[in-house]
Amino acid sequence: MNKEEIKKMVKNKNFISGIYNYCDRWCERCAFTSRCMNFAMTREYSDDPEASDINNEKFWQSLSEIFKVTREMLEESAEEMGIDLDSIDFEEASRDETIKDKIVKNHICCKTAKKYYEMVDAFFESEYIPSLHLVDKSDGENSPEVQKIDKLDGPATLDELVEIIYWYHHFIYVKLMRSVRGTLGDPSEILQEFPKDSDGSAKVALIAIDRSIAAWGHMHNYFSSHRDQILSLIKHLDGLRKRVEGVFPEARNFVRPGFDE
Ligand code: SF4
Repeated sequence: MNKEEIKKMVKNKNFISGIYNYCDRWCERCAFTSRCMNFAMTREYSDDPEASDINNEKFWQSLSEIFKVTREMLEESAEEMGIDLDSIDFEEASRDETIKDKIVKNHICCKTAKKYYEMVDAFFESEYIPSLHLVDKSDGENSPEVQKIDKLDGPATLDELVEIIYWYHHFIYVKLMRSVRGTLGDPSEILQEFPKDSDGSAKVALIAIDRSIAAWGHMHNYFSSHRDQILSLIKHLDGLRKRVEGVFPEARNFVRPGFDE
């Protein structure tokens, strides 16, 4: 894509502004692909094998073009808002960001979310992997476990449960990092009137936590011999959910563009 094509895409009114900021990035399952600029842009590049190959020069040219256009648009917006980008002290800003990084990483929500994805990785890297592989290879007819899970409400297969858990286990951490980061700093009075990005990110994290707990609930019924480990994962996630709701009391009320409108 060249500069003009990117700019044209940005101005396309069919796209829901900012929808990709508060989604779960699971495009395969998303009902809004036709309204999402991020999806359209990604597809443009993935349709071109050279532009999506990190070892190809075209990939870096495309990336450089996107950065250039982004910078141009940023400069245009800054000018419209009367902000002089040259007056920003980037060294000081960078120092601030390093301090914020430390605060975010040490926040109880982020630490608990990190612990969760480590627990998930440990679960699947441990002795449970052979049993998962055993079931995954079956056609479902010879496995009492698969038959059992198919009778449950919600996700029908073990593959799907594992996919849900895997999809969200790092995602929750990343979204909570963004939420906590959004609470640092000093928002201007104008920004205070708008819904907070930190609440939006916390809402997506909460949705991911809810879905993960539901998936673990089915896993729990499935792997009856590993009940204790699975219960401790559910308990850990439930504790995280309560913490996030406590730190971001308005998160559940956040209206996500497209999804909640
Ligand atoms: S809004 Fe939907 S299509 Fe767009 S990035 Fe998110 S999941 Fe993908």
